[in-house]
Amino acid sequence: YGDEEESQDYLFKIVLIGDSAVGKSNLLARFARNEFYPNSKSTIGVEFQTQKMDIDGREIKAQIWDTAGQERFRAVTSAYYRGAVGALVVYDISRRQTFDSVGRWLNELHTHSDMNVVTILVGNKTDLEEAREVSTAEGKLLAEAQGLFFMETSALDSSNVKAAFETVVKEIYDILR
Ligand code: GDP
Ligand code: MG
Repeated sequence: YGDEEESQDYLFKIVLIGDSAVGKSNLLARFARNEFYPNSKSTIGVEFQTQKMDIDGREIKAQIWDTAGQERFRAVTSAYYRGAVGALVVYDISRRQTFDSVGRWLNELHTHSDMNVVTILVGNKTDLEEAREVSTAEGKLLAEAQGLFFMETSALDSSNVKAAFETVVKEIYDILR
C-alpha cells in the first residue's frame, strides 16, 4: 500500500470568481504562463488551466477554472462550481463596488459547492495604490469575519500571485492528506 500512496495523484479543482474586470483571467495568466494582458476585454483562451505544483515534495495538479466572462450577466452556471475544492474570490482594490459584491459571490459559491471549499479573498491590482478605494484592513476584516484566507495581489507586477494560489492548494492538501 505504501507504493500506492507514493504514486497517488492529486488533482484539485479551483474556481476563480468575482466581478467582471477585477483581474481573474490575468491572475491565472500570470500564475500559469507568466503573462499579462494590459487590455483584455474578456477571457482569453480556455475554460480551465492545469498547473503542476510541488507541495512538500509531492506533485499536485491544480485545475484552475476561469469564467468566460459570463459573470457580467450574473450567469455563472452550477457546472462551473461542481467538484470545486478551492476558490479565489477576487475584487479590485481600486473599485469599491467589486468589494461590495464579495458577499454575493460567497453566497453563490456556497449554494453550488461544498461548504468546506477552501477559499481565499484576493484584493487585486495593488499596483494601483494611488487609486485605492478599499483598505487592506477592510479586506482583512471581511476575510476574518467570513473565515477566509486573505491576500492582496497584482497580476500586473506579479506580487503575491503565486502565493495566493499556493495558499489554497497547500491548505487543500493539508486537509486531504
Ligand atoms: P476578469 O474579467 O476578472 O477576468 O479581468 P481581466 O483579467 O480580464 O482584467 C480586466 C482588466 O484589468 C484588464 O485590462 C487587465 O489588464 C487589468 N488588470 C488585471 N489585473 C491587473 C492588475 O493587477 N493591475 C492592473 N493595473 N490592471 C490589471
Ligand atoms: Mg476573465
